[in-house]
Amino acid sequence: MKNKKTIIRADEMGFCLGVRRAIGTLENAVRSNDSPVYTLGPIIHNPRVISDFASRGVKSVESPEDVPADCRVIIRAHGIPPLTQEALNKRGSLVMDGTCPKVIASQKTVRKYASLGYHTVIVGDPDHGEIQGLAGYANHPIVISSPEEAGRLTLDGPVMVISQTTIKQDEYDRVCAVLREKCKPLKIVESICSATSKRQEALIHLCSRVDACLIIGGKGSANTQRLFYTAQETGIPCWHIQDASEIPSEASLYDTIGLSAGASTPDSIIAEVEQRLRSM
Ligand code: SF4
Repeated sequence: MKNKKTIIRADEMGFCLGVRRAIGTLENAVRSNDSPVYTLGPIIHNPRVISDFASRGVKSVESPEDVPADCRVIIRAHGIPPLTQEALNKRGSLVMDGTCPKVIASQKTVRKYASLGYHTVIVGDPDHGEIQGLAGYANHPIVISSPEEAGRLTLDGPVMVISQTTIKQDEYDRVCAVLREKCKPLKIVESICSATSKRQEALIHLCSRVDACLIIGGKGSANTQRLFYTAQETGIPCWHIQDASEIPSEASLYDTIGLSAGASTPDSIIAEVEQRLRSM
């Protein structure tokens, strides 16, 4: 007879508000069965979700030039630069905005301080879609990702600093501490989203209550990888899996298993993993 397993989910896990909203926007577009639907870049970093939408006719493209006129295009949660929006409008695309409201707030802040003559310093990953979108709202944006880079800046006049919504607070604080010594006046904008830190805190709490842990999410999802590293640091056995088919056989050795999932992991995949574990 199989041992009855106890499966415990982290208190905060899976889709964040912004991702849920962007997916909802895309879902509504597909269901309305109107003109063809495109996304600018993959809607989220989850291969199953992307292939499900692709099988329903959604095409992911990298630039506005790849969207045929009169088609609908969904903007993902990271947002886009205003010039990209203009290019889509010029092509006659119907833009459906799935930008996260928290990212929209950051975009408005960047535009406001740029119009007041502030230099714009953005802290984050220069290759990330959110940062590229934000930078588009400033005149001559400077993107940095470390206190060392902040130390090399020479800026005359007022400076506004803002961050990617998903970086760690202590990383941002270290950069701001350097800028505070160099830039006068300096406006520090707090734009970090609590969704990431809440998932991290909930995972640490979860790991203290279970024998082993599974982190569910796409291999290309940075926030899922960070959850996995956090679980590893707690010292309990843990695995990063994309879906139920990747559950390792060793998981069956443990009586109490914790589950957490990245912000781009849909509820259906989490439910499948839980169900498969219970049957092992
Ligand atoms: S992590 Fe926060 S800012 Fe980013 S999409 Fe999710 S809710 Fe929005």
